[in-house]
Amino acid sequence: MSKIKSYGDMPAEEFKKYGYELIDWAANYIENVGSFPVLPKIKPGDVKRKLPNHAPQSSEPINKIIEDLDKIILPGTTHWQHPNFMAYFNSTASGPGILAELISATFNVNSMLWKSAPASTELEETVLNWFREIINLPKEFWGIIYDTASVSSMHAIAAARENIGFDIRKNGMSGVPKLRLYCSEQAHSSIDKSALTLGIGLDGIRKIQVDSEFRMIPSELEKAIKEDRANDCVPFCVVATIGTTSTTSVDPVEEIAKICTQEKIWLHVDAAHAGVTAMLPEMNRHFKGVEHADSFVVNPHKWLFVPVDLSILYTRKPEVLKKAFSLSAEYLKTAEDSSVINYMDYGIQLGRRFRSLKFWFVLRYFGVEGLQTRLREHIRLGQFFAKWIDEHPHFERVAPTPFSTICFRAKPTGWNDEKKLNELNEKLLNEVNLTGKIFITHTKLNEKFTIRLVVSGLRTEEKHLELAWNVIQETFYKILNDG
Ligand code: PLP
Repeated sequence: MSKIKSYGDMPAEEFKKYGYELIDWAANYIENVGSFPVLPKIKPGDVKRKLPNHAPQSSEPINKIIEDLDKIILPGTTHWQHPNFMAYFNSTASGPGILAELISATFNVNSMLWKSAPASTELEETVLNWFREIINLPKEFWGIIYDTASVSSMHAIAAARENIGFDIRKNGMSGVPKLRLYCSEQAHSSIDKSALTLGIGLDGIRKIQVDSEFRMIPSELEKAIKEDRANDCVPFCVVATIGTTSTTSVDPVEEIAKICTQEKIWLHVDAAHAGVTAMLPEMNRHFKGVEHADSFVVNPHKWLFVPVDLSILYTRKPEVLKKAFSLSAEYLKTAEDSSVINYMDYGIQLGRRFRSLKFWFVLRYFGVEGLQTRLREHIRLGQFFAKWIDEHPHFERVAPTPFSTICFRAKPTGWNDEKKLNELNEKLLNEVNLTGKIFITHTKLNEKFTIRLVVSGLRTEEKHLELAWNVIQETFYKILNDG
């Protein structure tokens, strides 16, 4: 006999009681996150070992689940919300964004059709129009929210593939000549994944050489396109990056756009991290030429304090994207289809979360000026840190710092052996991270092991950068002295 007495949801009173408790939990976490080690001191398997092998057969009280949140989950968490998290491209979630996530889950609407979620659909259209204006994209750009930049770029490249007109939608890739996709050697690996997904294959990507500042060389792109045409390949898409993952270098979009227009090739701009800085007039120089792009991706979940996940794809050719992806199953047809946007028509997913809500909360709570102020402060701090590196006799920058990502390495005076320098810097990075005080990551640039520090956290202030710089220097001298 079943022991279950209720067939419904958690009672409202219990929801309120623990809801208030969990809001307190979240507020305390954010207030005190700086007191945890940024990286948990755990080994692979430590979290799993604390979890039972099977799901509970009978109901467990919510307070027991919250207890385990503290005992098992919290100690196994890398704290992305920590002010000293300066790794990858960090993403911090702001209070308004977190609260909106709660409401989004509360509605639990599925934004596949206008009919299935009118408010979500129309809010998405509205906030994406606001944001297009904020980042100075021309009016013709139409936007859609996906989860990540990887998925946004994949959809853009699928539209580019549709645009060349081999009726791939119907016939697939059989009989299609070899397609060619272009990006720089510094482009994000999501472009390679798009090639894997869309039948272009890794050999279908031409990685274009970069200059000494890690920017695509347009003349090399032109040469590659000519070579490919001569070999009966079909160039169909160029991906330019504004803010590459390793160094935040900026490809010369204006020159690349000229080549794309001349050659009739789709231009996709990946500005996943740095795209938000287009709202700062002093950063306009990095965005010259984006008005000629066919598509543009920017992630408010990276550097605009919106909780993961929210990526926006803007395109001036939404009809091509729709042609690539729309199918109309009978049960999804509605009377309003001809007069509304059904976002399911513009991508692989049918079901879609109500993501625009958290973006709306964040844009309204901070306002454009509030967001600009915070981005400016991060850039100021980034430039500050770059100056500290430049002024130190035993450190050097390995790439320019156009935004707030600093690529550097230790280079003690008189050390010229690259192998030894790589070993030193790898050790330095590992030991810095082992302190638990800060978290930074690395990249390889021209075979040099390069340490990368990113300032884009909502809670990162000058004092945190000072601490980071002190930890790095102390660790460096300790390694040198220990021999
Ligand atoms: N594009 C660039 C330039 C990136 O730096 C990244 C990730 O850091 C991505 C795309 C992928 O982002 P996502 O995690 O949203 O797929």
